[in-house]
Amino acid sequence: MKFSGFKVVKEALTGHKGWTPLWRNPDPKPSYDIVIVGGGGHGLATAFYLAKTFGELKVAVLEKGWLGSGNIGRNTTIIRSNYLLPGNEPFYEFSMKLWENLEQETNFNSMVSQRGIINLIHTDGQRDAYRRRGNAMMLAGAGARLLSRDEVKEMVPFLNFDNARFPIKGGLMQERAGTARHDGVVWGYARGADQRGVDIIQNCEVTGFKIENGKVLGVDTSRGFIGAKKVGVAVAGSSGRVMEKAGMRLPIESHVLQAFVSEGLKPTIPGVITFGAGHFYVSQSDKGGLVFGGDIDGYNSYAQRGNLPVVEDVLEGGMALMPMIGRARLLRSWGGIMDMSMDGSPIIDRTHIDGLYLNAGWCYGGFKATPASGYAFAHLLATGRPHETATAYRLDRFERGYVIDEKGVGAQPNLH
Ligand SMILES: Cc1cc2nc3c(=O)[nH]c(=O)nc-3n(C[C@H](O)[C@H](O)[C@H](O)COP(=O)(O)OP(=O)(O)OC[C@H]3O[C@@H](n4cnc5c(N)ncnc54)[C@H](O)[C@@H]3O)c2cc1C
Repeated sequence: MKFSGFKVVKEALTGHKGWTPLWRNPDPKPSYDIVIVGGGGHGLATAFYLAKTFGELKVAVLEKGWLGSGNIGRNTTIIRSNYLLPGNEPFYEFSMKLWENLEQETNFNSMVSQRGIINLIHTDGQRDAYRRRGNAMMLAGAGARLLSRDEVKEMVPFLNFDNARFPIKGGLMQERAGTARHDGVVWGYARGADQRGVDIIQNCEVTGFKIENGKVLGVDTSRGFIGAKKVGVAVAGSSGRVMEKAGMRLPIESHVLQAFVSEGLKPTIPGVITFGAGHFYVSQSDKGGLVFGGDIDGYNSYAQRGNLPVVEDVLEGGMALMPMIGRARLLRSWGGIMDMSMDGSPIIDRTHIDGLYLNAGWCYGGFKATPASGYAFAHLLATGRPHETATAYRLDRFERGYVIDEKGVGAQPNLH
């Protein structure tokens, strides 16, 4: 079934009897060429590009819960490619280009909205750093604009420009950044992969790997053994737990990150705004809710729920930046499990076990990476070679000292 304006009108006039499910619900086959563990955004995007771009036809995605139950359905929906380092910027810009064509590619309305992002500047030193980042972005073709205080004030006059501790002195803007509807992304990729023959198997938890003579032969699951020539693991916050079953210990810690949504308000915030002196980022959904977040919880956890001290911390950041937020009622909040790597950058690589591949370490920036991560992981699985934009995301970089420390805070996963 192809979605189009014509189809919507036709269904409206004929009683909506022609809509079909977005994907099948198949039973697992005894074996596949490639099994992807994890039906989040990255796993499904990988399966989509494996089938569409690399012609892999015997592919399955195994998801322990339901599609969208993980971080892909829990994030604050920000997409951007405003990175500094050479290992990161080309990859995120590749992702941005894929976002720009995603809805045409999947024939699904994922509500990709390039409404712009402003990173606020509060000190002269920060302006220098953002100027440098903006130059790196322009070199990668991502586009960037340094805004004066007056320009920022014209766009978002409701911010607290004269806060005594954190005066706003300008901003770095990426106009092509914005938001996308997070579950619309996972549904679009799932539908596109299913249409190309990928088996998406929900309620199927991987409980172990069958490894013989250093080669993976398949996975044990809650629905029995499934054979595979290659296995790609993309389980985000569960990476440590799942790879432990293959005898691997990863340079990753899991922490909770919370998201918050206010009651619906009239259109207030034109794009995405990030506070440069604390950790707070905010945008407004099409339904009117202010969608915002801040820091991760400080200690390790696999719980998909947050704690009150961080709620207080995030809301303090919001009040410092835009005091009017104190008049809005908080409607909902939830948590997701972040796979925090030691340098804040991801891993897309083969492992020392033949046929076993890893996609992990997305921290809280993995939503914007979904298209490029899927494409690069599919490239690696299908060709055995890393995609040109993902060559730095090696698992052994921590041993070799080639970390990609975008924030410059060192091996401190909780600070990235
Ligand atoms: C509150 C919050 C806000 C965020 N905000 C942003 C943002 O604004 N911008 C941005 O770029 N990023 C953001 N992120 C990060 C982003 O959402 C994640 O980095 C990204 O979604 C992770 O990749 P994924 O979609 O594949 O993960 P997930 O959706 O978590 O997918 C992993 C899947 O693996 C499954 N799984 C786990 N174990 C097993 C097993 N044993 N067998 C089978 N399946 C298994 C899980 O059930 C899950 O569905 C945010 C995250 C959170 C929680």
